Amino acid sequence: MYICSNCGYSHDIEVARYGGVLCSNCNKIFTVYKPPKKLLQTRFGVSFNELPSNRGNCFPCVIACIMELDSAEDVLQVQEYYDLDNINDPNNWYNMLFKWLMQKGWQWGSLDGHQYDNSYYFVIGKTSRGTSHVCIYKNGRLWHDPHPSNDGIVDEEVFEYIKYVGH
Ligand SMILES: [Zn+2]
Repeated sequence: MYICSNCGYSHDIEVARYGGVLCSNCNKIFTVYKPPKKLLQTRFGVSFNELPSNRGNCFPCVIACIMELDSAEDVLQVQEYYDLDNINDPNNWYNMLFKWLMQKGWQWGSLDGHQYDNSYYFVIGKTSRGTSHVCIYKNGRLWHDPHPSNDGIVDEEVFEYIKYVGH
């Protein structure tokens, strides 16, 4: 069930991913946000000093949730490339992730802060465990923590989203 953001009319529809829907009541397009999957991360290392293959994969996990993939392992394991953070290097980790997403029709961008439009977005920051982490939030509240503790983010630093835009 999705409510038109223009006129409030309820639509009994199944919608794939994020998308625009033509409201049959007011004839305007409204955007729907399908609830992401709730997957747990599969790797838990907390230090960059660990082997890259052991580092925690919270970021691939929240991406997999929104892309409705089966596992965090189905996403580029971007944490393995965090050492490559030279902005001048085309193979730095964010360029790699940006390309990986773009090839699948997904846009990755930043937000000014919490969103209150029923969308699902990423909050990146520090946990009560002292680690850097990312969780999925909705309307200013924790919606899914890919870590089993479900503690969320205590020190919020960065807000981002991914959105399906097609090719
Ligand atoms: Zn409407």
